[in-house]
Amino acid sequence: MSEIEPESHTPPANTDDNSIRCLDHGFVRLVDVMGNDQSIVQSARVSYGKGTKNVRADRGLIRYLMKHQHTTPFEMVEFKFHVKCPIFVARQWIRHRTANVNEISGRYSVMEDTFWEPRPEDFRLQGSSNRQGSSSESVDNSKSSELSEQFKADQRLLYKHYEEAIAAGTAREVARVNLPLSLYTEWYWKCDLHNLLHFLRLRMDAHAQLEIRVFADAMATFVKQYCPIAWEAFEEFSLNAAKLACSERNLISQLLTEHKLWDELEKRRTAQLQEDGASESTVRREIEELCQTLNKE
Ligand SMILES: Cc1cc2nc3c(=O)[nH]c(=O)nc-3n(C[C@H](O)[C@H](O)[C@H](O)COP(=O)(O)OP(=O)(O)OC[C@H]3O[C@@H](n4cnc5c(N)ncnc54)[C@H](O)[C@@H]3O)c2cc1C
Repeated sequence: MSEIEPESHTPPANTDDNSIRCLDHGFVRLVDVMGNDQSIVQSARVSYGKGTKNVRADRGLIRYLMKHQHTTPFEMVEFKFHVKCPIFVARQWIRHRTANVNEISGRYSVMEDTFWEPRPEDFRLQGSSNRQGSSSESVDNSKSSELSEQFKADQRLLYKHYEEAIAAGTAREVARVNLPLSLYTEWYWKCDLHNLLHFLRLRMDAHAQLEIRVFADAMATFVKQYCPIAWEAFEEFSLNAAKLACSERNLISQLLTEHKLWDELEKRRTAQLQEDGASESTVRREIEELCQTLNKE
């Protein structure tokens, strides 16, 4: 695709195919993409000089690469986004070190008075099982409405003081330091598909804060659109897959042996794979790997 001109500060309309609105004033806008599923296949096959085969073989290859964490072919695809998000979301996002980032400068520009204004329902209760997280329930109605109004009033007051400091000639780099984490920032964020999927696995997860999940979900929409086969493999082998501890794996293995369930397991898995169109050799390999994964004696 051709590069799209930035339209800084302007939340995109929902009708723009390359933009998805996030929270109240934020967005994820796809600026550029290099590559697609074929780029993954092409680079994976370079070692023996063969290009694209047919779609079925390409899907099998991408799934094999994803399953066995042969990650470099996924680095051949790159996505560039223009993002507008609150600073507290950006603080979490920036921990992902493998992207290239260029952020608006509060030393150079006067910051816009755009804040994430939490609605009453955004005042989620502190989680009880996860000390970092929140519950799906919110603070009771009248209190959360009061908190919502209070947040907005604080934001307006702090921004007024910021403007006063600027008007008095204070350097922008100093005037901005009292602005809150709810202020929106903007950046260009470019990342290869391997690292982008790592980001999405962590930030689409239920353990991630809801407000960053909204942005991760928006980015996922574009990844699905441009790399549907890689996305499907990612869902199967990473996003919706699970890791077993050694003791958990041994327990499952013992139970399968005690209850004589190995044959049934292999039969059902074979049926699943055949239904998905796997070749005979793929079925054999997959069954062998499943037995290894579950520690069959
Ligand atoms: C739910 C959740 C809660 C979190 N809570 C906290 C918290 O309370 N406090 C806090 O400080 N952070 C927290 N984090 C951030 C977390 O610790 C990671 O910094 C963040 O998820 C980025 O992960 P990453 O390093 O794997 O990603 P990236 O920086 O994108 O790196 C991708 C991968 O590249 C490799 N890599 C990159 N740079 C290096 C390097 N210098 N050395 C070695 N390997 C490297 C690693 O394999 C890494 O997994 C949290 C993250 C999540 C998802």
